[in-house]
Amino acid sequence: MTVDVAILGSTGSIGTQALDIVRHANNQAAARGDDPAYRVVGLGAGSAAAVVAAQAVEFEVSSTALADPTQLDALRDALPVALASGAGAGASALNDCIVDADVVINGIVGFAGLDTTIETLKAGKRLGLANKESLIAAGPVVRRVRQTPGAEIVPVDSEHCALHQCLRANESFDGDRMDQVRKLIVIASGGPFRGRSSAQLREVTVEGALNHPTWSMGPKITVDSSTLMNKGLEVIEANELFGVGFDRIDVVVHPQSVVHSMVEYTDGATLAQLSMPDMRLCIAYALDFDDRHEHAYGGIDWSTLSRLDFELPDREAFPCLDLAYHAGRLGGTAPAVLSAANEVAVDAFLHGVIGWLDIARAVEAVLAKHNGERDPDLDAILAADAWARAHASEYVAT
Ligand code: NAD
Ligand code: MG
Repeated sequence: MTVDVAILGSTGSIGTQALDIVRHANNQAAARGDDPAYRVVGLGAGSAAAVVAAQAVEFEVSSTALADPTQLDALRDALPVALASGAGAGASALNDCIVDADVVINGIVGFAGLDTTIETLKAGKRLGLANKESLIAAGPVVRRVRQTPGAEIVPVDSEHCALHQCLRANESFDGDRMDQVRKLIVIASGGPFRGRSSAQLREVTVEGALNHPTWSMGPKITVDSSTLMNKGLEVIEANELFGVGFDRIDVVVHPQSVVHSMVEYTDGATLAQLSMPDMRLCIAYALDFDDRHEHAYGGIDWSTLSRLDFELPDREAFPCLDLAYHAGRLGGTAPAVLSAANEVAVDAFLHGVIGWLDIARAVEAVLAKHNGERDPDLDAILAADAWARAHASEYVAT
């Protein structure tokens, strides 16, 4: 059976890898004389009109959207007549892209992915979630829309995809069997600056921060990996997805990125998921859940893999990790504030406005000023996000 897929953030690292899976699987199916494995029914992105148009032509997608309305003419001009009428811009056009999908891959970067997360779940669809920021910022809101019949989140973030698999092996998604989980162990690569002292971290450059040792990703998450904010955000993400509480989530550094995360059960048994670092495994896992994808992405060649190392994170040199635990424990609007302040600070760092150490300082300062709300609705989250952006921008400017 052909699965109808919408890919939001189609021009990014996650989006292009999702399309790569579709291309490969459909070519294999065609070679066998079978129906296509997937049909791409919607494509959405920020502003790269020419790239989206080329994707729409290749995959014959009639519903396309850009967040940036100034690029709509360029998108329409680049599309053949038959596809041009289905092109739109802005939030409602992005939401139109998911209407015909069975599965939505949310590969938008940052808080901008929130609408897609909410609309997909509200429509009772499966959400392959790479956009962790939406879940982190709007946890209380997402928790409610996740209850929609048919709605389901299958995590694409590699650590959470691993946790999902380790929990699935014990049928521990909810209820009693979740009590059998002692700890979720979220794996971190440690990023490009693992092992550096606080003093050495003063010298960090944008180029250095963008040079991730094991994963090739978009710039924002790559900088987040260098500060360990990405791991902090992932701790909050793990708590949102699996609801175990922050005392039952640990972070362990594993520089090879072969073990992707682990679940320790009450009897002392630890289950782990291993594969070579390849996000396509996780994207394909979400596309095909609860089956297994037929093609192996990231299979391990045991003749070349000789060691797996583990260490605890340096929480002093990388304070973003504990800032995230703190915001997560505060709950309510605090994670939205953490995530928004971080987005602003990372953007300023990437533009050479602040130094790498200032990212944590900016987030800490904004979080300290925030007067949180415990059970926010969507408006309160949007307000907290805007408040944090304004205060972070002010901090960054001075
Ligand atoms: P990226 O920068 O490569 O791509 C971002 C995509 O989002 C682009 O297609 C861009 O056009 C789109 N976009 C930007 N603003 C938008 C807006 N306002 N509306 C609609 N689309 C918009 O980023 P990425 O590395 O692919 O990361 C995407 C998400 O996946 C992030 O949340 C990231 O944390 C998460 N993630 C990525 C990886 C990875 O390997 N790249 C791994 C785990 C999680
Ligand atoms: Mg991750």
